[in-house]
Amino acid sequence: MKRRDFIKHITWSAAGALLLPLAGPLRAAEAAWQAGGGAAGVRVKETYLSFRSLANRTQTDVIILHHIGNTNADVSAATVHQWHLANGWAGIGYHYLIRKDGTIERGRPRDTVGAHCYGENWHSIGVNIVGNFETNEPTAAQIDAAERLVAVLCRLYGLVPSGDTIKGHRDFNATACPGENLYERLPDVIAGVQRYYR
Ligand SMILES: [Zn+2]
Repeated sequence: MKRRDFIKHITWSAAGALLLPLAGPLRAAEAAWQAGGGAAGVRVKETYLSFRSLANRTQTDVIILHHIGNTNADVSAATVHQWHLANGWAGIGYHYLIRKDGTIERGRPRDTVGAHCYGENWHSIGVNIVGNFETNEPTAAQIDAAERLVAVLCRLYGLVPSGDTIKGHRDFNATACPGENLYERLPDVIAGVQRYYR
């Protein structure tokens, strides 16, 4: 798929596009997606969470997938935000959270340093697909939303979707996250991202 065709398929929510000032080329790319409208678009549900201090992230070369782990409930970004505030963090550590019905909720602002993968937050985006995928399976809607979202993020940051740019949390830290049932599907997810990316 040519870039302009891709643009027709992917769109950001207008509010999401305006969240933070972006460098010129990035802003142009996001504006183009936004202008594309798009029945198949990526829409990010705004959550209007209040954070303690956040630092800007200046490098982005990997997107890291997570699950919730301790519950398979359909928890919201607002709930995880409260958990992470209670940890003494600035707020929710993930940049995006994907609900069971495939709704993508905004977590930490996209161009800020997250709190989701020890030692790797300075150059990564964290996406949480809610559930416990040690014991349960992600929904089809979650997988599709994740593929679309990650495809847009790859475009936005100039990343070619591959096993080098799309990882599971366990690739970096000693953790079960994102759960065996999601991790074993990671090659399929990457292939899905590649389809939306083209
Ligand atoms: Zn994780």
